[in-house]
Amino acid sequence: MKKCFKCGALCDYKYDLCYDCYKAYENGEWYETENGYIKVYRPEHPKAGEDGYVYEHTLKAQQKYKRELEAGEVVHHRDGNKKNNHWSNLEIMTRSEHWHEHND
Ligand SMILES: [Zn+2]
Ligand SMILES: [Zn+2]
Repeated sequence: MKKCFKCGALCDYKYDLCYDCYKAYENGEWYETENGYIKVYRPEHPKAGEDGYVYEHTLKAQQKYKRELEAGEVVHHRDGNKKNNHWSNLEIMTRSEHWHEHND
């Protein structure tokens, strides 16, 4: 059994993605960017790009901290997995805190 990289559910599938997440992908609800992040379709979100997609880790971190990201803040993935956007894996940091987190 593999684990779905997106939601963590166990999946018996040739891709490491469960059926629900695959369906959602087919429906255009999310996609993976070239640098390995997940973007979800939220055209009404202030941080959405012109295509209507916003980084899922940004959305989830905002829900966790119950505030917007401020300028100069980034979202850190604690386990180093850019696709693991479970709230417990996300941490809002300033850019310099984030730099030290990865370079110390
Ligand atoms: Zn899934
Ligand atoms: Zn980081």
